[in-house]
Amino acid sequence: MSRVCVIGAGAAGLCAARHLLVEPGVSQVDILEQAGQLGGTWVYTEKIGYDDFGLPIHSSMYKSLRTNLPKEIMGFPDFPVPESERSYLPAKDMLAFLQLYSDKHGVTKHIKFNHHVQLVIPKTGPSGELWDVTFKDMTTNISETREYDYVFVCNGHYNTPFIPSIPGLKEFEGDVMHSHDYRVPEIFTGKRVLVVGAGPSGMDIALEITSVTEKVILSHHLKEQPKTVFPDNLVQKPDVARIEGSKVYFVDGSEDVIDVVFLCTGYLYNFPFLHKSCGIVVEDNCVEPLYKHLVNIHHPSMCFIGVPYYVCAFSMFDLQVRYYVRSMNGTFDLPSSEEMTAHWEEEKRDRAARGYTKRQAHMMGPDQAYYYASLAEESGTSNLPSVYTKIHNDSSHKFLHDLVNYRNEVYCIVDEANFVCQGN
Ligand code: FAD
Repeated sequence: MSRVCVIGAGAAGLCAARHLLVEPGVSQVDILEQAGQLGGTWVYTEKIGYDDFGLPIHSSMYKSLRTNLPKEIMGFPDFPVPESERSYLPAKDMLAFLQLYSDKHGVTKHIKFNHHVQLVIPKTGPSGELWDVTFKDMTTNISETREYDYVFVCNGHYNTPFIPSIPGLKEFEGDVMHSHDYRVPEIFTGKRVLVVGAGPSGMDIALEITSVTEKVILSHHLKEQPKTVFPDNLVQKPDVARIEGSKVYFVDGSEDVIDVVFLCTGYLYNFPFLHKSCGIVVEDNCVEPLYKHLVNIHHPSMCFIGVPYYVCAFSMFDLQVRYYVRSMNGTFDLPSSEEMTAHWEEEKRDRAARGYTKRQAHMMGPDQAYYYASLAEESGTSNLPSVYTKIHNDSSHKFLHDLVNYRNEVYCIVDEANFVCQGN
């Protein structure tokens, strides 16, 4: 019988626990969650910096956030988001959904809240590999080390800000802020704000703050120029070349005066609790070596749920968990270490040949359907319906080209492969 440690009670950890708790060969599931509540990213707090126990604030949620994907593809395959008139829901509804999911599957009572994982070390036991996991009860300050057969790493990857090296940024005399610390637009009232980066947060927040700012300068290097018609006080610019005094110079030779540099430059994968002997290295935001972005090749009794991005997140978590649990219970055998390594190296070569940078090692987007199919086929579990990927593509396209209005659309899944979408 296996004892399993799940690190984190966000959507990924809850999903892992939901499947592990009904697995006959699993005798113990400890879900260790450093916060006082479940939901991870979806927990909104006005606080920035550190929590009451001195841990860095985890969530990057801002007050007004509505999902950037419709609820029709935001649920789990066996537990859809409940019916509502809208497709794009506020964060509090997603949090309520995760609470419902956790309660309905009997997960909540297995969560050890306020338990911060400090260290994970592999060791050799009498019949194979084991894990020592050290965690601290933040309410009592008491640390404990427990032994497990498997570790599911589900600690999220939108909490450690990536700060780009922009010449002159360190010397900039105005405010510099990362989207991790953004909560409400009012902090930018009357300012001239340089927004760096046009990912989901950059685009969304740049638009939101136009309501209070004098000017927003959205600097990005998107391959496809957004067709969204932004308010007049937002201009788009290419990459920043340098910042000097209160001036920003762009690579096209243009310049502007700014009060604030607002970095919407994304996040870094971070596993501060993994001992070196776990064998996982993060370099240029590539986590390796992972087989199928999921299995620790050096120690296959450790898996990572949720590493790929630009995916149907919760559904992908579910598929990853089903895949991995099937390897645990012997439904299929993971390839040998050599085969997994060869697969990962080949995937890296293939991605590089298609123009992906190392930093994009876990980006799925156009690769997501192939990725889902490969997990389903190898483990013999059901794939995600192709309609999910189709809606993801449709919604992502509209996000870029009609950001101002696209959340008024309402999606309806017709069958496994088809959907309809109507403006509301
Ligand atoms: P998280 O939700 O980050 O959960 C990780 C959990 O692990 C947290 O509860 C954390 O406290 C805990 N933890 C971390 N370290 C430790 C430790 N050492 N010990 C114990 N516990 C620990 N996705 C979408 O699909 N649609 C969206 O619209 C969308 N909007 C987003 C908006 C924002 C602003 C952000 C930041 C992300 C958004 N995402 C969106 C992505 C979202 O993060 C994922 O969909 C998903 O919720 C991630 O779940 P997770 O469980 O992997 O991570």
